Amino acid sequence: MIVRIDFMHFVLIDLEWNNTYGRKTKRFINEIIEIGAIMLDGDLKEISRYSCFIKSQIGKKLRGSVKQMTHITKEDLDGGIPFTKALSELRRWIGGCENTVVTWGDGDIRVMIENYRYLNGLEVIPFLSNYANLQGYFQRVMKTSPARQVGLGAAAEMLGIDTGEYALHRAIDDCELTAECFRKIYDKDLFREHIIKCDSDFYGKLSFKPFIINNINSPLIDKSKLSHNCEICGAQAKMLSEWKYTNRYFRALFYCPNCDKTTKVGVSFKKLYDGVETKKSSVAVSVVPEEDSAAKVM
Ligand SMILES: [Zn+2]
Repeated sequence: MIVRIDFMHFVLIDLEWNNTYGRKTKRFINEIIEIGAIMLDGDLKEISRYSCFIKSQIGKKLRGSVKQMTHITKEDLDGGIPFTKALSELRRWIGGCENTVVTWGDGDIRVMIENYRYLNGLEVIPFLSNYANLQGYFQRVMKTSPARQVGLGAAAEMLGIDTGEYALHRAIDDCELTAECFRKIYDKDLFREHIIKCDSDFYGKLSFKPFIINNINSPLIDKSKLSHNCEICGAQAKMLSEWKYTNRYFRALFYCPNCDKTTKVGVSFKKLYDGVETKKSSVAVSVVPEEDSAAKVM
């Protein structure tokens, strides 16, 4: 995909939310209570900004932790506007210019999709055509471990930005700080690679909740992962016990007659949106390779 990035507007969005019980879906939902947005031109200069409080429709009470972190009060929300109105205002504010929505981490965009579905019954967000996760981009530029997500405040500090003047965890301040970070690490050609089209694949991926497979007969499991080769001689080891599922892993004992070695093998399968992630562990155990003793070790 060729993105014409020079004439593009970047719409930085930050949300504050309140975790509350949704009676409609009978599970907890993060209800958006504040929206902050800053629009930047292709040179990352601010064009305009938008912010509002959302009058809550799902949750009646603000969680203590949310009040403490954001300093948002019930009165603020009572003076706010309904979600649907806020989103149509936001849409009008964004306008028709080619744009990319940018957030720090994909949590905010997931929550926005969830709120849209819950409150408007819509599966897609009308103003969302391109999206970029600035956190992912930051971690690539700064070469931090992909296993650990870097929060906005920590990122700002790493970039030498004084966070003292920002009220962290208030939507518009977080947007400002996001913009500051963005300016420090922006490289047109590199950033272009992080812009993705908001197609059905995008929504599928964001709505998907990864899960651990706990049924050994699941067709999702690659059966070749269920054998074990001896770590010393490489020969295929003999399975001594059935696979047993405990604590996210299938576990079984294997024995290599060449080396007279018993190994406890664990295999874990996690279903992701686009594939299955497999993890394997093995520990040598000192046990006589008989069915009885094998059962005891398990
Ligand atoms: Zn061996």
